[in-house]
Amino acid sequence: MAWNPDAIKMELQPESDSQAAIRPTQLIVHSVIAPWTARRIFEYWRDSSNLESHFGLGYEGDLGQYIGTETRADANAGANRRADGTGAVSIETASNTSGTDPWTAQQIEQLIRLGVWMHKRHGLPLRICRTHSDPGYGYHSMFPQWSTSGTACPGKARIKQFREVVFPGIVARATGQTPQEEDVALTADEIDKVADRVVAKLMAADVIPAVAPPDNNADWETNKTWSVKYALQTPIVSGRETLRRVKDIEAKVNALTVGGVDLDALAAKVADLLATRLAN
Ligand SMILES: [Zn+2]
Repeated sequence: MAWNPDAIKMELQPESDSQAAIRPTQLIVHSVIAPWTARRIFEYWRDSSNLESHFGLGYEGDLGQYIGTETRADANAGANRRADGTGAVSIETASNTSGTDPWTAQQIEQLIRLGVWMHKRHGLPLRICRTHSDPGYGYHSMFPQWSTSGTACPGKARIKQFREVVFPGIVARATGQTPQEEDVALTADEIDKVADRVVAKLMAADVIPAVAPPDNNADWETNKTWSVKYALQTPIVSGRETLRRVKDIEAKVNALTVGGVDLDALAAKVADLLATRLAN
């Protein structure tokens, strides 16, 4: 039995005592297709299902652990426990009901922390799984052996975040490439300036239209600016936090646009803006 020190322990019985032991070699991430807290995910496993995941993660970064990581859980079909006794540790994450929204900055931070812990505690190698049984990190739809009837989980936006933010974040932190202490908080004035520049840059690059698309509502002008400012205005504690929030903005802005969006151009513009900001 191993319990993650960042997680609130909400032990599921009888599963926690009755299910077979595993030697954890993989971490597989999911979207739960409900906007639930870690507590609500626990209640669902306890009251409404005989399945379960090891961990659950709410939008605010609230992390619950329901089963020890050296015990089998049910979220990954053939990867739950293989004949050799190895198995995958699973985490369900709060999402919208269609599984299309990106992870929040708080969720990304916890996923990175959990990933680092899995490396240190259980010796997971710092790589994305190359096959369904290969030790490392993955997401649910990565291999057909990990689901009973196919799945899109955790959704397109989150698969992109997994590859571009979460997994690189795990590697960087586990290998000591991201110092924790040297971050600088932004002032409210700086946040406004960054938000304005993000919007201006995205419009200049035609990534978000300067005028409302015909099938969008009259609040277009307000919404696109709001989405950027919203992501920046909730308390920012550090430069790294800003990095995560800009990734969040990228997804939010994308969700507001309709058709013709060049995601690579969007990502490049946001990265460029942030590099400028952090260099100044
Ligand atoms: Zn899943």
